[in-house]
Amino acid sequence: METSTQKRILVTGAGGFIGHHLIRFLKEKGYWVRGVDIKYPEFSPKDEADEFLILDLRDFQNCLKATQGIDEVYTLAANMGGIGFITFHKADVMRDNVLINVNIAEASRQNKVKRVFYSSSACIYPIFKQESPEVLPLKESDAYPADPDNEYGWEKLFSERIYQNYHQDYGLEVRIARYHNIYGPEGVFEGGREKAPAAICRKVTQTQDGDEIQIWGDGKQTRSFCYIDDCLEGTYRLMESDYKEPLNIGSDRLITINELVDIVSKIAGKELKKVYQLDKPQGVRGRNADLTQLKKILNWESEISLEKGLEKTYKWISEELSK
Ligand code: NAD
Repeated sequence: METSTQKRILVTGAGGFIGHHLIRFLKEKGYWVRGVDIKYPEFSPKDEADEFLILDLRDFQNCLKATQGIDEVYTLAANMGGIGFITFHKADVMRDNVLINVNIAEASRQNKVKRVFYSSSACIYPIFKQESPEVLPLKESDAYPADPDNEYGWEKLFSERIYQNYHQDYGLEVRIARYHNIYGPEGVFEGGREKAPAAICRKVTQTQDGDEIQIWGDGKQTRSFCYIDDCLEGTYRLMESDYKEPLNIGSDRLITINELVDIVSKIAGKELKKVYQLDKPQGVRGRNADLTQLKKILNWESEISLEKGLEKTYKWISEELSK
């Protein structure tokens, strides 16, 4: 039941991976929450939110409806997917996401929203800082001179600036996180939009001990991965803080994709032979997060180990596949 003192929150992209987890998180904290998406969540009931509206946020009138009577917005809606998806759908990704963010910023201004959170990405960082697997962790200040390696990253950088300009020109309070590879249960694991941890958990589930496993690239590319619960905690702390600049949210444990496969294989109790698909997209060669600023500003850092997070993710994906 809504009480008059309850803050009213909008989560966009509420049918997606981070969005539907965020609804649960915010409900547990006692907020009134409206979810908006073009689809209902696949892996959780839609009534976890107080209200769930199906609206296409590329349309400005829909953004006005979504932000009406709202105190704070968490903007997670985006047309996106793993490296395969964003490599082959450049125009759609650019157009849809620019429209969503320009419309949400303006609708938030018109409806006098007090604060907006924007989910940017590690993909905004320049390619020339990510050319080796032993990459230096990326600091927030590394964003410029800009040279993201894909259009998804360019759009994220552009939209960071949109929100910052709304702050400068109209006083809209804005918080911006640059997420680094968020993973966990209740996220897409097949169909082309899934990311590496989910794809590997699916492939390991579908193999027998001693089988081959297909890996995109040579497996030596490196990344860091952050479990969903840490992402939510960091997001909320940032939203509650006074910090107005973009902030990395992620983990700084750098591992190769080969090592990621080894961890999941061990969880599954399987020994697998890695086979490399060198013609598949693999993104930048190495990427890690510098969390110096995160620790300083939020007095916090991600806590859940990769082994523990992958164990939960693998278990959930295996159960889904056996249904
Ligand atoms: P997701 O794809 O699971 O969720 C995005 C949601 O946005 C989807 O449910 C989709 O239906 C919805 N959406 C797309 N177009 C829409 C439209 N026109 N109107 C309304 N809703 C629309 O992605 P996610 O992993 O939950 O990511 C959430 C946000 O965080 C995204 O903005 C993403 O770019 C950003 N991000 C995520 C990661 C990650 O590792 N998951 C990393 C960096 C940044």
